[in-house]
Amino acid sequence: MVVVVSARLEPVTSASWLWFGMLAVGSVVHLEAARGIERVREIAAEGSPYAHMQSTWFFAGILLLPPPLLAALIAVSFAHEWYVVYRGRAIAFRKVFSASTVVLGCAAAAAVFSAFSFGHPPETAVLNSPRGLLGLVGAGFLYWLVNYALVVGAIAATSPDKPARAALGNPSDQLIIAGSMGLGSAVAFVVVHVPWSAPVLLVTVLAVHLGLLLPQLRVASQTDSKTGLVDPTWWETIAARELDRARRLHSTVAVLMLDLDHFKHVNDRYGHLAGDRVLREISTAIRQSVRGYDLVGRWGGEEFAVLMPGLSAEDTEAAAERIRAHIASLSVTTRDRTNTEVHITGLTVSIGAGRYPEHATELSPLLLITDDALLRAKEQGRNRIVTANPALPLQRQQSALPSSQPLPGQPPV
Ligand code: GH3
Ligand code: MG
Ligand code: MG
Repeated sequence: MVVVVSARLEPVTSASWLWFGMLAVGSVVHLEAARGIERVREIAAEGSPYAHMQSTWFFAGILLLPPPLLAALIAVSFAHEWYVVYRGRAIAFRKVFSASTVVLGCAAAAAVFSAFSFGHPPETAVLNSPRGLLGLVGAGFLYWLVNYALVVGAIAATSPDKPARAALGNPSDQLIIAGSMGLGSAVAFVVVHVPWSAPVLLVTVLAVHLGLLLPQLRVASQTDSKTGLVDPTWWETIAARELDRARRLHSTVAVLMLDLDHFKHVNDRYGHLAGDRVLREISTAIRQSVRGYDLVGRWGGEEFAVLMPGLSAEDTEAAAERIRAHIASLSVTTRDRTNTEVHITGLTVSIGAGRYPEHATELSPLLLITDDALLRAKEQGRNRIVTANPALPLQRQQSALPSSQPLPGQPPV
C-alpha cells in the first residue's frame, strides 16, 4: 500500500535512474563479496533479528531516490539475496516480511525528510545546517525503529517459548545498522557530488565489512590452524541450526563423514610434515568439491565432516563421488624426511553419507549412523562411499561409538 500510495508523489528523473543503478550495483557487489560471512551470521542469528549492512544502500536510497525506485532497490537487494546467496534455502514469507519492514522503515524515514522539506537529492546547503543534521538523525532513528520493532514483534509473537532477550538480539548488531546508515549518507553525498569517487566508498564498505567481521568469525568458528577448516564444535553448532531450519522448511541436510585410507602409511613413509602437507591439500580438495556454503569441518586427525543443506539423495552421492575422485587424483608435491622432493599420489578416502530426514531426524543419531556407514566403507575395501542404512540393528550402529556396550542379550559385534 505504501508503495502504491507513494508511487506518484514524485517524478522519476533520468538522474534518479542513474543513482538507482549505482546503488543497485553497490548492493549486489557488496552482498556477493560478503556472502560467505553473511551466510554464517544469518544462520547464527536464527531466532533473533539479523542485522545486515545492506542498510547502507537503502539509506542512501532514502536520501536520493523517489519512492518507486527506492522500493525497486529494496526488491533488487532481497531478490538477489534470495536467489544467489541463499538459493531458495531461506523461508520465503520471512524474506518478504523482512523486505516489507524495510519498505516501511524507508517510508517513515522519507516522511521525516519531506517534513524537513528536503527534496531528492537534498540540497547540500539545506542539509549542511543544524536542521539538516536533525533531519538526518531523525530519519535514521525512524528507519531503525520501524524495522527493529516490526522484526522483534514478529519474532516474539511467533516464538513465545523463546526468552524475550533472544528476540531483541545482540545490541552490537544495532551498531552495525547505525554504522551502515552513516556510510549510506556518505554514499549518497558522494554519488551526487563526486560520482567518480563512488567506487572508493564501495571499497570502504566492503573492507570495513569483511575486515571487521572476518576475524570475529574466525574466533567464533574456532578454525583449525593446520587446515583452515572449522572445528567439530562449531561444525555441530551450525549442523544443529541447519537441521532446525530444514525441519521448518521441510528440506534436507546431507552429512558426509570422511576418513583417509591408510594415512599412517603416508606418515611412516614420508614423515609427519609431509603428512600435514597432504592434510592441507586434501582439505582444499574437499572444499573445492562442494558448494561455497557447504561447511567442511576437521573432525579429528585425518577425519573430516561435510554439511550440505538442501541436497537430494542423488546430489549427495554426486558430491561424495566428486570428493572421492578429486582426492584420488591428487598429486601432492612436498619434501620427505631427507628433504628430497616427492610427489605423493594414490591417496584415497572412505566416505559415509547420511541425510536428514531420511536416515535420522536428530543430529546425534544422524552422525552416529553416518559414522557407521563410514565404518562399512572401510570394511568393504576403502576408497568408496557407503550410504547410511537406518534399518541396521541398533547394536551395530552403537558399535560406531567408542564407549558403547552391546545391548543386554545381544551378542557383541
Ligand atoms: P584407515 O583409516 O584406512 O583404517 O587407516 P589409517 O592409517 O588412516 O588409520 P587411522 O584412520 O586410525 O589413522 C590415523 C592416523 O592419522 C594416525 C596418525 O598417524 C595420522 N594423523 C592424525 N592426525 C594427523 C596430523 O595432524 N598430521 C599427520 N601428519 N598425521 C596425522
Ligand atoms: Mg582416522
Ligand atoms: Mg584413516
